Amino acid sequence: MFNIILFGPPGSGKGTQSEKLIAAYGLKHLSTGDLLRSEIARKTPLGIEAKSLMDKGHLVPDEVVVGMISSALDEHPEAKGFLFDGFPRTVAQSEALDKLLKLKNTEIGVVLALDVSEEELVKRLLNRGLTSGRSDDTNEAVVRARIIEYKQKTTVVANYYEKFNKVVHLKGEGTVEEIFSGLCSEIDKRLSI
Ligand code: ADP
Repeated sequence: MFNIILFGPPGSGKGTQSEKLIAAYGLKHLSTGDLLRSEIARKTPLGIEAKSLMDKGHLVPDEVVVGMISSALDEHPEAKGFLFDGFPRTVAQSEALDKLLKLKNTEIGVVLALDVSEEELVKRLLNRGLTSGRSDDTNEAVVRARIIEYKQKTTVVANYYEKFNKVVHLKGEGTVEEIFSGLCSEIDKRLSI
């Protein structure tokens, strides 16, 4: 099994690159943002609680997202590997993920971190808001709040995995194809070991 974390701030292109990576490597895509939006669409109690936090640009509690990931891992015992997108977003989530993977005799192979400047992120998110129907993408104050949450709680996730030498930083600006080929070459290097 080869498991990847696609890491980076909101708007860094994780969703776009995830689609291409899962197609190329046959991985199972686990996006906590998508899982939460599906709960919201189904109006579940979890979705209703999550929506009010997401609409303010805040993170959802660790227990909620860890629970969703734990169930998703159990639902796909046949997976060749998982691509985590938007998760883990706190050190507590990283520690919980490591434990869950260990129970399945596997681990994170690499953390691919997309670096994008803050002004480019805001521009991309507001632009996505014009068509995505995502309420957290239409308001600049919410977009900026998400970036602040990222800086305060999520950048430390990269430091956590640096300790295990698992992080590779890549430029997240350029064409979709350029970025994709950079990601693929990092994955291929590790798959050929
Ligand atoms: P983006 O990274 O573009 O902001 P996501 O779809 O990954 O979009 O996440 C949207 C929102 O869902 C986040 O702003 C946050 O409120 C919530 N969320 C997603 N993943 C997590 C997570 N791992 N922990 C806590 N909250 C999360």
